Amino acid sequence: MMRLPPFTYIAPRTVADASRALSEHGSAAMPVAGGTDLYPNMKRRQFEPSVLVGLRGVREMTGVSGSAGGGLTIGATTTLSAVSAHREIARHFAGLATAAGLVSSPQLRNMGTLGGNLCVDTRCNYYNQSHAWRKAVGFCMKKDGDICLVAPSSSRCWAVTSSDTAPVLWSLGARVRLVGVNGERTVPVESLYRDDGIEYLTRRPDEILAEILLPPADGWTSIYLKLRRRGSFDFPVLGVAVAAQIEGDVVRAARIVLGAVASLPREAKAAAAALVGERLTPELITRVADLAAGPSKPLDNTDYPHFYRKRMTRVFVTRALRRLAGLDLDGRPDEESA
Ligand SMILES: Cc1cc2nc3c(=O)[nH]c(=O)nc-3n(C[C@H](O)[C@H](O)[C@H](O)COP(=O)(O)OP(=O)(O)OC[C@H]3O[C@@H](n4cnc5c(N)ncnc54)[C@H](O)[C@@H]3O)c2cc1C
Ligand code: SF4
Repeated sequence: MMRLPPFTYIAPRTVADASRALSEHGSAAMPVAGGTDLYPNMKRRQFEPSVLVGLRGVREMTGVSGSAGGGLTIGATTTLSAVSAHREIARHFAGLATAAGLVSSPQLRNMGTLGGNLCVDTRCNYYNQSHAWRKAVGFCMKKDGDICLVAPSSSRCWAVTSSDTAPVLWSLGARVRLVGVNGERTVPVESLYRDDGIEYLTRRPDEILAEILLPPADGWTSIYLKLRRRGSFDFPVLGVAVAAQIEGDVVRAARIVLGAVASLPREAKAAAAALVGERLTPELITRVADLAAGPSKPLDNTDYPHFYRKRMTRVFVTRALRRLAGLDLDGRPDEESA
């Protein structure tokens, strides 16, 4: 059995106190929300904080407010179950409800939070192992070692972003509010990420991710599709988020963001640009899916071969666009959505 190492647990009641506690304890401290990612990682000694700043008692950080028409504010400790079941989110930000509902398993979604999901650790076959396994094989630079076992000549870590909701929130144009001891800032979700498997977040050590802000729904539709081996609880090895604003049958604006193909979510900008001003014909869908596969550059460090995950990017983007066009996955008119 793997046991948690000893630690001190601090339970602040306000975001300001939480951020102050992080600042006071410096690199010894980490925030914890649901703990569904952090506690298993601590058991494997991937993180060894001696102080945990618990966020579940901070009431101002939980719940959903606002409206789809004016924009929704989601507290960072709102559970994934609550996000996926929220009526207005499911109706107007369907991709987010889908992604939240596909994270891990029901028990973990009841504990796991949206903020924790945005900050979830990057993953790699050589890292998501017990301490004994990693010691036997030789530690890598993400923890305790100094080389990359996937790309030994590389000076950086290529561990993979594995959040289901990050690509969707990025595609929806969401922003996050970060609160630190020296003030707060609200930035687009995409600014939260860095192309580095170790320092994958731009969050400062004393900053708490307090809220996620969704813009007005304004005619946008969104879809999220996830590739994983075991549908019951695996992390994504490919996530495809497509959001589009469609007037009549013409696409007015679109964003396509890929998850789990790099250390940060990747936006397929050329593919999305090709949709704008066009009708979603089968020919256009094929062209856009080809373009979207361009930025998909998975490495061989998660489940399924990397070339298969790249090929599936094209397949999943095709499927997502077919759904947006009211077709079923095989490209036939979808009678259920008619
Ligand atoms: C078996 C298993 C399967 C899983 N499958 C998936 C999956 O399919 N998809 C997926 O995306 N995830 C998956 N996860 C990971 C995890 O359950 C989810 O990502 C969950 O949303 C994490 O949220 P949490 O609140 O539990 O985060 P925690 O574990 O509490 O924290 C995760 C990280 O975020 C930081 N953090 C948390 N909240 C904040 C905040 N408000 N401000 C600043 N930093 C914060 C913590 O310090 C930590 O570094 C899985 C985990 C397990 C054990
Ligand atoms: S990509 Fe390399 S450095 Fe990063 S976790 Fe994997 S083996 Fe370690």
